[in-house]
Amino acid sequence: MLKPYQTPARDEPAWWFVISAGNMLLDQNNMPPHGALELLRWPDLTDYTVVHLGRLRERNCYLVIADLDDPNFTELGQFESVRLLIQQQDEELFALAARAKQVTEFIQTHRYCGRCGSRMEVIDWELAMQCNRCQHRCYPRISPCVIVAITKQNKILLARGKRHREGLFSVLAGFIEAGETVEQGLAREVHEEAGIRIKNIEYVGSQPWPFPHSLMLGFVAEWESGELRLDPFELEQGNWFGFDELPETPQPGSIADRLIQAARAKIEQA
Ligand SMILES: [Zn+2]
Repeated sequence: MLKPYQTPARDEPAWWFVISAGNMLLDQNNMPPHGALELLRWPDLTDYTVVHLGRLRERNCYLVIADLDDPNFTELGQFESVRLLIQQQDEELFALAARAKQVTEFIQTHRYCGRCGSRMEVIDWELAMQCNRCQHRCYPRISPCVIVAITKQNKILLARGKRHREGLFSVLAGFIEAGETVEQGLAREVHEEAGIRIKNIEYVGSQPWPFPHSLMLGFVAEWESGELRLDPFELEQGNWFGFDELPETPQPGSIADRLIQAARAKIEQA
């Protein structure tokens, strides 16, 4: 197991996840830069926080936390939203980018102890911040969310959240609350947002969603009872759609798209 903080050798070919102000350095192919530090002609990294994130295609992946508009890195690309990586449709790559963004968020928002207010320090044997005065220790925050594609006969429920851009519809999603099971959170969210009850719930898969630190737990389910009644505080529009009349939906590579395709496959098999 590699320690979280380390200085990579200058000749090690690696993937570089450079984060600045919540965005990631991406090259002209919308990928994180890859190569040895000396070839990339990058600065000495001793003044930067560098965290080992994992491995991708047999190479180490490193997070480098840069200041806003750090000129040392911009020759190789631009700082862009991590959302741009979804279109690569590479789950492993997106998970590492999500980790890079979430670890940065964690380090930058845990500089002081929430218990006693002293400065917190990074520790080097696991990824955590520790208060040396009261010993309070924090780990990166992960917020579990449920996301579910619900079908009724041969239609799927899609809705437009208030934060979605005009024209984009997706499946229902919401945060699990403290003390809830995943099953309870799912039932409550669906009932609150759409007024319905669901049955035949099946787990499909998960995706880290670093905006800022969610973990999406994805399901398909079937309508059981209740009239559709959208929560006006969360949703602007929504309805049951046939698969031959779908509005614009989230892009391939997102868990929402994966769930919509899973729901479609289930209906086609039935
Ligand atoms: Zn403390």
